[in-house]
Amino acid sequence: MNKKSRILIVEDEAAIRIGLIDVFVFHGYDVDSADNGNVGLQKAVNGKFDLIILDVMLPDKNGFDVCDAIRAVDADQPIIMLTAKVSDDDIVRGLSLGADDYVAKPFSVAQLVLRVEAVLRRSRSRVELPKRIVLGNDVEIDADNLSGRRGAAAIVFTRREMDVLQYLDAHTERAVSREELLTQVWGYAKDLDLETRTVDIHIAKLRRKIEADAKAPTRLLTVRGAGYRLRRDV
Ligand code: CA
Repeated sequence: MNKKSRILIVEDEAAIRIGLIDVFVFHGYDVDSADNGNVGLQKAVNGKFDLIILDVMLPDKNGFDVCDAIRAVDADQPIIMLTAKVSDDDIVRGLSLGADDYVAKPFSVAQLVLRVEAVLRRSRSRVELPKRIVLGNDVEIDADNLSGRRGAAAIVFTRREMDVLQYLDAHTERAVSREELLTQVWGYAKDLDLETRTVDIHIAKLRRKIEADAKAPTRLLTVRGAGYRLRRDV
């Protein structure tokens, strides 16, 4: 028998929180919730959740700080942030702190359910990809441990960043499109037709870790009109 997936919803607005609890219980999830950041963080680190839905604007401790604190102890924990639609900064900041994805408010519940299903599907069915990635003569990465070195400096990755890197490393012979990354790494359905900056922001984060100069990348290249391509030989 399939164990129910456990979701934690951290949201202070009662109407939204209760609505989300209802929806995810209806979809067969085991749901817990918190209405402030401190309790949310406590539950997140002690509760073994399959996924956490985390609002940005929270009393006591905001969603960014909660995300950051979760990541400090668990690089694997799937997190989807609820950000304000008006704020690009929120989206970039949330993903920079290691959220797997974001949904901008006001959001459609159906869309959020699809995202959750996609992230969970992907977390379960991680395909076999190279465990050791070597780039040029100064970067060496251990995918299982989400860590590596660039020169003398240690680098650490989130699980999602590593998934992107491993996928690109397995396909260095060609450019990989945003859509392919969204379907293969984030687990989205092909026809979901999402407007999202998730991929670009994860690429930017990876560049800061594996490139000597993130603004002039030589390894993680943008191929105009085609996507992203990884070069191992430079
Ligand atoms: Ca809120």
